[in-house]
Amino acid sequence: MIKKIDHIGIVVHSIEEALQVYEGALGLGLTDVQDVPEQAMRIAFLPVGGSKLELVEALTAQGGVAKFLEKRGEGIHHICFEVDDIEAALQDLAAQGIRLIDEQPRQGAHGRIAFLHPKSAHGVLIELIEKPR
Ligand code: ZN
Repeated sequence: MIKKIDHIGIVVHSIEEALQVYEGALGLGLTDVQDVPEQAMRIAFLPVGGSKLELVEALTAQGGVAKFLEKRGEGIHHICFEVDDIEAALQDLAAQGIRLIDEQPRQGAHGRIAFLHPKSAHGVLIELIEKPR
């Protein structure tokens, strides 16, 4: 079902500051920065091999990212797995008793995405992505 780790999401106070480490010190390339106003966040992607880091910054003091920062501080937020068929994956996982945050996939920055509840994955927030063909 899972093809690879598409990206690892890291919540930061400031993408600009975080880029000094990830782009500057570690030498990763930045591909794109996008605002996702409906999630009150800005995201930046840095490819690493066949995968990516996704830096996530809160756009407002409300919203999930701001809450995460307040509660847990900066750090790894989620792991995203690429799947071929996101509907089939969600159906299969639900049938196995995995708690879903998104019952139906929604449009993300690079494909259709859905999140699984961290309570069903030993504390890790898991995102699934199906890339457009
Ligand atoms: Zn993500």
